[in-house]
Amino acid sequence: MAFTNEQLERYSRHIILKEVGAKGQKKLLNAKVLIIGAGGLGAPVAMYLAAAGIGTIGIADADEVDLSNLQRQIIHATKDVGKPKVESAKETMEAMNPDVTVKTYHTFVTSENIMDLIKDYDFIIDGTDNFPAKFLINDACVMAKKPFSHAGIIRFQGQLMTYVPGEGPCYRCVFKNPPPKDAVPTCKQAGVIGAMGGVIGSLQAMEAIKYILGKGDLLTGYLLTYDALKMEFRKIKLPSNTHNCAVCGDHPTITELIDYEQAECDGVHL
Ligand SMILES: [Zn+2]
Repeated sequence: MAFTNEQLERYSRHIILKEVGAKGQKKLLNAKVLIIGAGGLGAPVAMYLAAAGIGTIGIADADEVDLSNLQRQIIHATKDVGKPKVESAKETMEAMNPDVTVKTYHTFVTSENIMDLIKDYDFIIDGTDNFPAKFLINDACVMAKKPFSHAGIIRFQGQLMTYVPGEGPCYRCVFKNPPPKDAVPTCKQAGVIGAMGGVIGSLQAMEAIKYILGKGDLLTGYLLTYDALKMEFRKIKLPSNTHNCAVCGDHPTITELIDYEQAECDGVHL
């Protein structure tokens, strides 16, 4: 596949990088990334991946755009209020880059459909805002041997880690089980600074791009935390022993997907 003149110009700042080059840009154009959640995290991820020329981007979300989303979910505009988020996201991404094919899934992601959703994708982005979804994505990706980027944001804080099969701990290695329902506030209850999604979502997009290029070090085996008020990033080394994990360990006890009870306000996707 040869680049068109328009592509050579569009991707010139990528192609000039020795870590990308024409070969890397072609990898990006041939890559398939699924974003689960078209909210505060999913919005910047989707925009940067579309701009980068990721050839196929899937986006899954059951919600419609709400006025209270627009403080952080920058892929949606005021005119989009009431529209399915996946449709609004698709319009923005396609307007940004016609090279990108956007596949939309206007549905909740559950144990029933997640394996089918992730099977055709090279890398998965967890842009959800609730623990049941985060554990479901982790377990499904471990079982399907798919790499994914986990992230969470609340108030002035964010966190991030990357799972690659066989190369470090999974989300469940670190966090074991979801907290009791309502033990941890949602962003609707606790608030979140809009730019937090931009910081952490951009890092998720960067992890996906590096994974596809096969360049640099991924955030495997580490949890990155960001405290905006203290302006402090911490890269915490995670235990490398995954043998006893209930899902990715040597003798897994979780062999089927679990739909944990949805927390209240789960409609507020970050
Ligand atoms: Zn694990």
